[in-house]
Amino acid sequence: MKALDKYTIVIGLEVHAQLLTKSKIYNSDSAEYGGAPNTHLSAITLAHPGTLPKLNKKVVEYAIKMGIACHSEISRWQIFDRKNYFYPDLPKGYQLTQDRTPICKGGYVTITTQVGDQQIPLNRIHIEEDAGKSIHLENETDTLLDFNRSGVPLIEIVTEPALRSSEEAAALVTEIRKLVRYLEICDGNMEEGSLRCDANVSIMLKGATEYGKKVEIKNMNSIRNVQRAIDHEVERQVNLIENGEQVISETRTYDVTTGYSYGMRTKEELNDYRYFPDPDLSPLIVSEAWLDEIKMSMPALPRELKQKLITTYKLPEYDAQVLTDSKEMAFYFEEVCRHTANFKAASNWIMGPIKSYLNETNQQANQIPISPNVLAQVIALIEAGKLNFAVASQKLFPELVKYPEQTPLQLAQQLNLIQDSNEASILPVVEQVINDFPQKVAEYKKGKTAILTMFMGEVMKRTKGKADPKLTNELLVKKLS
Ligand code: ADP
Ligand code: MG
Repeated sequence: MKALDKYTIVIGLEVHAQLLTKSKIYNSDSAEYGGAPNTHLSAITLAHPGTLPKLNKKVVEYAIKMGIACHSEISRWQIFDRKNYFYPDLPKGYQLTQDRTPICKGGYVTITTQVGDQQIPLNRIHIEEDAGKSIHLENETDTLLDFNRSGVPLIEIVTEPALRSSEEAAALVTEIRKLVRYLEICDGNMEEGSLRCDANVSIMLKGATEYGKKVEIKNMNSIRNVQRAIDHEVERQVNLIENGEQVISETRTYDVTTGYSYGMRTKEELNDYRYFPDPDLSPLIVSEAWLDEIKMSMPALPRELKQKLITTYKLPEYDAQVLTDSKEMAFYFEEVCRHTANFKAASNWIMGPIKSYLNETNQQANQIPISPNVLAQVIALIEAGKLNFAVASQKLFPELVKYPEQTPLQLAQQLNLIQDSNEASILPVVEQVINDFPQKVAEYKKGKTAILTMFMGEVMKRTKGKADPKLTNELLVKKLS
C-alpha cells in the first residue's frame, strides 16, 4: 500500500492474563478453567447482599512478580476501585479493579524484531477480577450465564502507545506470554482466553506531533490474529483518511474467518465508569520484607537465560533464542549439558529432531520423550564414530522414543545401526561407485566438485547409511583426484 508510507502507525496494547491461582481473587471459590457451568461459585461470587470481598494474597504476589520482571515500580500502598457498569455476567454491577493506584507503575518489556532489541515502555500493571460468560445459543432468545469465570484473577498489562508496527505488537505479546509462563503465573493460552489482548490503533501523518483518534480492537485469540487484525485496522484507517473521511474513536471486533472488523460501540457512549475507592477492601500495604522475599523467589527470566546460554555454553545467539522459547526446553538443554561437553551438539539435537518430534506429536517441551542422560549417550556415540547423525536422528531416535528403557548403544546394536569406520570395508564400495559413474567422474574432474554429494549419497545407499561419512568423504576425494 503506497499511501501507508505517509503515515506513522501508533499502537498501545492492553493484555489481560488470567492468574494460575487455586481460588478466585476476592473469595475462596475455585478459579480453575472450565468446569460444568455455575459450579465454581458461592454467594460471594454471586454478590448476594451482605457478602464481602477478601483479597487473595497469591494474586498480589503474582502481580508483583510480573512487575519485577518488567522493571516496574511496585506500589507499596494501594487501594481498589469500583468500575461501575451494567452487564448481565457481572452480578455486582461493578468490577473490582485498580484505577488510581495500580500495583505496578511504569517499567518496560524488551522485544526483539528484525531491527534488533527495543524496550517497550509500560504504563502500568494492575490487578482485577474477570467477569462471567454470557452464552448465546443459536435460535435461542434467552441468554445463558455461566459465573465460573466471574472473580477469576487477572492482571492487566497496559503499554504506552509506543509500538509502531503490527510486527512489534506481535513481538510484545510473544514476550509477555513467555514471561508469564516463565514466572508460572499464567498458562499463556490464548485460544482458551487465559491470555487476551486488546489493541489500540491510530495513525498520524509522518512528523505530526499529535496522535490520531484511536480504535480499540478486541477478540483476538492468537498472536497471528493480533498482527492480522492490526494490519487490517491500519489499512481501514488509511483508506478512511485518504478518502477524506475521519476515524472515529470506537471499539471494534475482528472476525478471524472473514478478516473484517465491525464496530461494537463508540467511545463517546462509554467511558463513564464512575470509579471510586471500594469501601469493602482495606488499603493493601506491601511490606519491604515481603517484597524482598518475592524478589528472592524470582526464577531466571528468558533474556537472562538466553545470555547464560551464550556465555556459559558458547551457543550462537540464534540457538540461545530458540532454546529459551520455553523454560522447559532451556532447562532440558542445561540438563543434557551436565552429561556432555558437546553443548552445540545438544543444542542441534533439541532444535532439530526433538523439536520436530514435539511439533509432529503436538506435545510441549515438558514432554520430551527421552531423558537428558540418554540424549547425552547418543551424542557420545556419534562423537566416538559409532553412529552418524543422520542415522541416529532418523533411525535410532524414533526407536528410543518407543523403548526408553533401552540404552542407545544396545538399541543401535540390535537395529544394526553401528557405523562402519573400517577403511577395508568402505574402500571397495567407494571404488565400485566411482567405476559405475564414469560420466560423473569426468564432470568432477572438470571442476564440478559439488558432485561429491552424489557419490557420497551413493556410498551411503549401498552401505545402508552405515559408512562413516567423514572417512567416506576422505576416501572419495582421494580416489577421485
Ligand atoms: P482510554 O482512556 O481510552 O482507556 P488510555 O489512555 O487509558 O485510553 O489508553 C489505553 C490504551 O490505548 C493504552 O494501551 C495506550 O497506550 C493506548 N493508546 C492511547 N492513545 C493512543 C493512540 N492515540 N493510538 C494508539 N494507542 C493509544
Ligand atoms: Mg484507560
